[in-house]
Amino acid sequence: MGILEIQSLQINYGNNPALIDISLSVEPGEILAIVGPNGAGKTTLIRAVSGILPPNSGRVMVAGTDICYLSESQRARYLAVVPQARKLPPAYSVSHTVMLGRTPYLNWLGQPGRKDQQAANWAMERTQTLPLANCRIDELSGGEQQRVLLARALAQQTPILLLDEPTAHLDLHHQTGILDLIRELVDEQKLAVLMALHDLNLVSLYADRVALLVNGILRAVGSPPEVLTPQQLTDVYQTPIHVIPHPDYNTPLILLDGHDPKIKNRLANFKQLDAHKGS
Ligand code: ADP
Repeated sequence: MGILEIQSLQINYGNNPALIDISLSVEPGEILAIVGPNGAGKTTLIRAVSGILPPNSGRVMVAGTDICYLSESQRARYLAVVPQARKLPPAYSVSHTVMLGRTPYLNWLGQPGRKDQQAANWAMERTQTLPLANCRIDELSGGEQQRVLLARALAQQTPILLLDEPTAHLDLHHQTGILDLIRELVDEQKLAVLMALHDLNLVSLYADRVALLVNGILRAVGSPPEVLTPQQLTDVYQTPIHVIPHPDYNTPLILLDGHDPKIKNRLANFKQLDAHKGS
């Protein structure tokens, strides 16, 4: 049994189902990536697992307990959430923001103790945000803000981490930087990670398993090569997609193609030009 078990989960917004009969589990030391087109239900799944959205049916179990029987602070000892960076808390300092991760452990006076300070320092060290401790979070770059949000979640010291698009709005260097760090922490601390991620090439490089959501339904779950097939992706994203082996690792490399014949003609011209160069 995984530390995180999602069992036959159904979430509705009013009369509209956003998630239908979703069952998934995540093991310690594993990254399960949630992919799917816009509106597929990725954020809804992260919110439901974090306990913000109560299920219409089904349940979310952490370490064998249904989260609906846990208080907010009990839940926060199992699950930490890294929201999208644009959903930042108010203009606190970095150290204050990271210390918010210790809220479930603070005494009734709300005063952080030595253990809380140690946990916050460790989280800032790991995310290289310690030098930013006194900066205001709204004055940081997108990459720095994302690392602070990760530090806050790490300070919470939970066995399960939920991430909603941790690479959104980051440049290529910062995308791989944040995922390298998450992967390292997962391997070292045996964290169980459920992560919504748009970029299929990043999923292919960093995730152990992929869950493909379409219109609230779990279409496929498995290793990146099992799920990220050209037929499946072309069908789900309704755009022509090629998948070739990554030149260095043999993992799936996802390539786009235009669907407009004019675009295809334009691209075919490049091919002819190249052939001429070769002759
Ligand atoms: P994704 O993260 O995959 O883009 P979401 O989980 O945000 O998808 O949305 C899934 C579906 O639920 C969409 O049809 C969206 O319009 C709807 N939805 C999301 N949030 C709300 C909300 N707060 N109220 C009503 N409908 C919502």
